[in-house]
Amino acid sequence: MAAVNLMPVETAIEQLLEVAALRARSRRVSLEDALGRALAEPLLAEFSVPGFDNSAMDGYAVNTADCLGAEAVLPVSMTIAAGHPIRVLPRGSAARIFTGAPVPQGADAVVMQESVIREKDGRVRLLRSPITGENLRRAGHDIAAGTEVLPAGKLLSAQDLGLAASLGRTSLCIREPLRVAIINTGDEVVAPGQPLRSGQIYDSNGFTLVGLLKNLGMEPIRVGIVADSLPATVHALQQAVAQADCVISTGGVSVGEADFVKDAVEQLGRLSLWKLAIKPGKPFSFGWLGEVPFFGLPGNPVAVFVTFLVLVKPFLLKMQGIQGSPQTGYPVRAGFRVEEPGTRQEYLRVRLEAREGEVPVAVLYPDQSSSVLTSLSWAEGLAIVPAGKVVRPGELLSYLPFRGLL
Ligand code: AMP
Ligand code: MG
Repeated sequence: MAAVNLMPVETAIEQLLEVAALRARSRRVSLEDALGRALAEPLLAEFSVPGFDNSAMDGYAVNTADCLGAEAVLPVSMTIAAGHPIRVLPRGSAARIFTGAPVPQGADAVVMQESVIREKDGRVRLLRSPITGENLRRAGHDIAAGTEVLPAGKLLSAQDLGLAASLGRTSLCIREPLRVAIINTGDEVVAPGQPLRSGQIYDSNGFTLVGLLKNLGMEPIRVGIVADSLPATVHALQQAVAQADCVISTGGVSVGEADFVKDAVEQLGRLSLWKLAIKPGKPFSFGWLGEVPFFGLPGNPVAVFVTFLVLVKPFLLKMQGIQGSPQTGYPVRAGFRVEEPGTRQEYLRVRLEAREGEVPVAVLYPDQSSSVLTSLSWAEGLAIVPAGKVVRPGELLSYLPFRGLL
């Protein structure tokens, strides 16, 4: 039972992703500076890693054909340490070898030192017969020359920097941070640091959005707090468009007399979405200011956070050129009851209780009002209740964690 004329959240996400396009410019940066950025072009291996067969153990390199029968005894013909060049193993001998050292030509196994006895005359007695390939790290077994090691769009992790370095790279071509303008509307809204007069509140939405954008590696641009008037809103949007790849506003998008965002956007461009079957966040809107996409989020702090996570974030990731698995959520058990079926898909603030060997249980924050910021700091994620659904304890629901999903 969907709310009359309100678009379902999934439809809105689909429509948004259809029109989202890569916007971030690419730039070459040093490996250190590539952390947390999206790779702009695939990383290809110009050579194999490791580049040569080497030993996985401290021990003795041998030719298995020389070690037939029980407890073969071999003279030690050479010592090979990491960093030495590749040598040739004289037949019928063993080479003392250390981890990472090149296996000599003619050897096909390394016997770990714990499996040999060093005789008084310096020869080694093998306590068991080695198997071909034992304790060898073959050339190219990590990376084969010519293969794609990382795809374009990969969000670069610490491990990825290590991987690129193993291929000798000192720099990578990445996507520059997307510039996202933030406008906070409301005659009652005051920046922290200013005195708070009667009837005023501090701007929290601006800071929540700065944090959310920085977490995605993007560059927030604060346009500022804007009065509830059409000219002020139009002016702020113009300023925003001039310096950003995308514009996000908060507040002023409902149907009250002090809500000017919709009119201002329609004066400068067009709205293509307005009002969704989502709770909190019904007045969510999306449109274009020329070429620049625009998100009009509601004013209530929880609605800002939820609509950003569910609707804005996937769009921005595509603009930024970040590839990842879509945010689908995973199953948890309801640790609560919802008696009345809603007309909108609801996102409830929950924490998970892990139980050994069982699906985790989502525990509800007691006050789910969309103005209650403490609920967001307390919660670890959102449990999704589809429109028209009643929920009994123990039922499976989809869960979106705040962290960890792209
Ligand atoms: P609005 O969507 O403009 O009607 O705002 C809805 C509610 O959110 C009102 O209670 C506003 O006071 C509040 N609100 C709007 N903007 C902000 C903001 N930047 N920070 C905190 N609360 C806000
Ligand atoms: Mg307002």
